Amino acid sequence: MTQPLIGVYPGTFDPVTNGHMDIIVRSTRVVDQLIVAIAGNDGKGPLFPVEERVAMLEDEIASITNGDGSKIKVMSFDILLMDFVGSVGASVILRGLRAVSDFEYEFQMAGMNARLNPKVETVFLMASDRNQFISSRFVKEIGRLGGDIGHFVPPRIKTRLTERFAREREG
Ligand code: ADP
Repeated sequence: MTQPLIGVYPGTFDPVTNGHMDIIVRSTRVVDQLIVAIAGNDGKGPLFPVEERVAMLEDEIASITNGDGSKIKVMSFDILLMDFVGSVGASVILRGLRAVSDFEYEFQMAGMNARLNPKVETVFLMASDRNQFISSRFVKEIGRLGGDIGHFVPPRIKTRLTERFAREREG
């Protein structure tokens, strides 16, 4: 029997957006097993601690898989991505590509990762046009200023963000 193809979809997911969910669904059509890998508290200063980001993603994945989430796993990692990929036996990294702005960063990262482990391929996927432009960064900016983020994130994430910003405003 051939080995199952394991893929890792890494990112910050601070918080998960409809764009990320779109890429997750597409990724499951490409690999047999998908590990959504959440980078720990890195230099970007995430809004949500990693445990909360994991919990949020698990909830959203449970809602799209009707409880059968065996194909998708959420994990956090704090080591070099290529070491993490090796430790879970994955041979593919999945990344989403938005507009031209993502290209240079993704190009460099894929190139350098390929040097670190030439056996692992990076595969780029595009979200549907309605989700393509969404970024966690702008979701946070819009939410913080009281804009409607309901078009960009799943309902539970909208609630979490709204509560979070309300607390911030109360100081
Ligand atoms: P990072 O922290 O690496 O900047 P994110 O955690 O926001 O990125 O996202 C992880 C991956 O998901 C990246 O490959 C990013 O390009 C992709 N992604 C995020 N939002 C979208 C979207 N709306 N459409 C397609 N890909 C996306």
